[in-house]
Amino acid sequence: MKLHEYQSKQIFSKYAIPIPKGRVALTASEARQISEELNNRVVIKAQVLVGGRGKAGGIRVAKNPKEADDMATTILGMEIKGLPVRKILVDEAVSFDREIYLGITNDRLSRKPVMIASSAGGIEIEDIARTNPEKIHKIWINPLLGLRDYQAREIASSIDLPQAQWKTFLDITRGLWAIFRDLDATLAEINPLVLTADNRLLALDAKITLDDNALFRHSELNELRDLDVEDPSEIEARKYGLSFVKMDGQIGCLVNGAGLAMAVMDTLKYYGGKPANFLDIGGGASAEKVAAAIRIILTDVNVKVIFVNIFGGITRCDEVAKGLLTAFKDISRPLPVITRLVGTNAEEGLKLMRSAGYTSYESFEDAAQAAVTISKG
Ligand code: GDP
Ligand code: MN
Repeated sequence: MKLHEYQSKQIFSKYAIPIPKGRVALTASEARQISEELNNRVVIKAQVLVGGRGKAGGIRVAKNPKEADDMATTILGMEIKGLPVRKILVDEAVSFDREIYLGITNDRLSRKPVMIASSAGGIEIEDIARTNPEKIHKIWINPLLGLRDYQAREIASSIDLPQAQWKTFLDITRGLWAIFRDLDATLAEINPLVLTADNRLLALDAKITLDDNALFRHSELNELRDLDVEDPSEIEARKYGLSFVKMDGQIGCLVNGAGLAMAVMDTLKYYGGKPANFLDIGGGASAEKVAAAIRIILTDVNVKVIFVNIFGGITRCDEVAKGLLTAFKDISRPLPVITRLVGTNAEEGLKLMRSAGYTSYESFEDAAQAAVTISKG
């Protein structure tokens, strides 16, 4: 679960990481009022859960309250990467000399959290990795010992931070590590952390992503979930206990088991196709759950073909077939469907599908190739 910048900044401030003065607003007149209170130039920032807001025009500096009002109106009327802007953050504008990147995430390979820093902050870390890989510095954190001060000093030195800033920088790294650990985050990132013209370190941007699987330990954080800006299909999927991730291809996938679902992604790509989603219906899925999955896949207008790949173990293929046929009965947008059923009650399942006129395969490869061909047609 991703938090908004303004939510992440509230958490930063609890952990003593310095942030600019400011507040979230829902309307342009609120933005004007905040600008009056701050009595300074302000920066108006779209609160949407995607990166690259700056490039998309979602971040603007206003010189006075009147401009703040106008710019807030513009930004509140925007869509950024398909997401409508419903909230804006109005912060005091800051002049700075340097932009630093500082983040913590999990390094799966070394099975430890890693702190990443760069003197080339302000742009996305993937871009820094491409353009200035030598400017990326990492230290691995032993989860039992936590971040050690000597490690933070090593980072400060690697990004050529002036000695005068080291004490504050160490406090910031401690705060960021504490957030990452206390909240069960998968990402805690400041980009940019700026060195202001008057020599203060300030987190101009904030990004925290929480581990959904640990949210049960943080009921207070669950309330921060912003259903407004999540993909509606992902919300619907969560309701039915389906693991669903939307993607941008044309082949809608319905699979049981995360491993098989991954294999489906790979195989479709291998044959030159593009999946529209990852969807694991889980073990022992009922007809009702399968029908819900189909409805969710169909809300994506890019989907040209549905690929059902079921390996029946606990899941019974005939139960899946019944779910599919129920869902297809009240479909407004008829689409070609490729099914591959093997395992428990596969024969009964295939019979049901075939008698309803649907093409069914036993071979994964044949089915995948058929789906790719249709998706291109
Ligand atoms: P992102 O593009 O979504 O990551 O949004 P950021 O909050 O990181 O802002 C993008 C860029 O806008 C920053 O790297 C800064 O260069 C600039 N920016 C953001 N806030 C301010 C500000 O208060 N003053 C100035 N001068 N620039 C800002
Ligand atoms: Mn940023």
